[in-house]
Amino acid sequence: MSINPEQAYKELIRLAREETLLSSCADLLEWDEEVFMPAGGVKQRAEQLALLAGLSHDRATDPRYDELLSVLESSSLVSDPESPAAVNVRELRRGFDRERRMPRRLVEESARVTSLAQKIWATARRKNDYKTFAPWLERIIALAREEADAAGHNGTRYDALLDDYEPGVTTEQLSQLFARLTADLTPLVAAFRERSSNSRLKKRFPLDRQRAFSQGVASTVDFDFERARFDTAQHPFCTSIGPGDVRIALRFSGTDMTAGVFTLLHEIGHGLYDQGLDPAHYGTPMGEAVSLGLHESQSRLWENFVGRSVGFWKHFYPVLQSTFPTALNKVSLDAFRQAIDRVEPGPIRVDADEVTYNLHIIIRFELERALLAGDLVPADLPGAWRELYHRYLGVTPDDDRSGCLQDAHWAEGLIGYFPAYALGNIYAAQIFDAAERELGTLDDAFAAGDFGGLRSWLAENIHRHGMRFRSHQIIERLTGKAPDSSALIEHLSRRYPV
Ligand code: ZN
Repeated sequence: MSINPEQAYKELIRLAREETLLSSCADLLEWDEEVFMPAGGVKQRAEQLALLAGLSHDRATDPRYDELLSVLESSSLVSDPESPAAVNVRELRRGFDRERRMPRRLVEESARVTSLAQKIWATARRKNDYKTFAPWLERIIALAREEADAAGHNGTRYDALLDDYEPGVTTEQLSQLFARLTADLTPLVAAFRERSSNSRLKKRFPLDRQRAFSQGVASTVDFDFERARFDTAQHPFCTSIGPGDVRIALRFSGTDMTAGVFTLLHEIGHGLYDQGLDPAHYGTPMGEAVSLGLHESQSRLWENFVGRSVGFWKHFYPVLQSTFPTALNKVSLDAFRQAIDRVEPGPIRVDADEVTYNLHIIIRFELERALLAGDLVPADLPGAWRELYHRYLGVTPDDDRSGCLQDAHWAEGLIGYFPAYALGNIYAAQIFDAAERELGTLDDAFAAGDFGGLRSWLAENIHRHGMRFRSHQIIERLTGKAPDSSALIEHLSRRYPV
């Protein structure tokens, strides 16, 4: 082929950008589905998303990619493996090779089935009726198996799915990491189970004031509202439509104000990562996040390491009190902090505290591997769910709504996704330690309302690299150690002495 590497690279980047633009249209439709779409729109939306998934697939498997990548792979443009060109070529090759193994029929079918299954799941959950969802879960598991087989793997099908979310991490490595984490968490959780807690903050917190307080917090941590917006949805999330358009959906409760604050900080952590990516690299791997786990590390870092720190509340508690004078004037800062630092094993993942949260994830990791391997059939899921909750957390959900129907992930076709949450906690602890080693203790800065030092450090050391490094390489570069849970356990033991 008579094309020089420079020309090939230019064309490759153009193709990659167009593909990203196309998938950002699907992202926008999905955002709308969660935030605005009426229930009657579901069939049309499923068809729209299936068509877009098919079109994206056609573009992603264009044989032209292969030709261009082959020219580049043998050129001097990629001789420095950390250069943007080398990173883009490496990651686009990885994406192309995976995508071209997927039949278009499978891609469209997955988009259609998961779009419909989400509505079935939502109704099943509302009515506490697992039986109507079980056949859909069966279809989703069957599609996940097909996808794993098409992608190919050296280990298990689960490895093939995991690789899409957390490149370079294997099921075996996760199992070891999580076994250690479970062993360290179990005695901590057991100690807290013995204690009864009555320091809940159940008062009335008007929603409009919660929104105003949230905007204030977001502005103080330098979240850029020129390039973002807030809405509300049933399930909080953050999605990035493009470099100037990050969408955060929040959920507020009239009686539990703290849940809203921590959700806000969580989603802002995601949003700051997206806003920290280099816009010049938009549409290419150098302008994308490393992995789900690393994305989650950013949200967890802002939620737990910043948002639960003494300094954060020294700064924000007076503002909070003046926002909700009737509810909080007689609640001291100490009493407030005790209420938010409550540790209490319960059945619901999204309500879980920092200590018990990871066990919710480890339970899902076990169950989805068993479902995928066929060791567990969807019909038996509710029983298996209750058994593991009893074993790991000492609680038994009252019904399937607060049991195996609580999360949307499997209905969305996300199998192999949950581990990212626990990985995020593990990475966040290591990253926060590294930041403090370099910047000094951050608590005083937080107390003074200064979050810019941490935000810039994260942008400089993590965000601006795009996909230059794998998540474990980033952790190693920052800490000199492989990912491991000891920093997280130290942090939890310090904050929650038993
Ligand atoms: Zn998250």
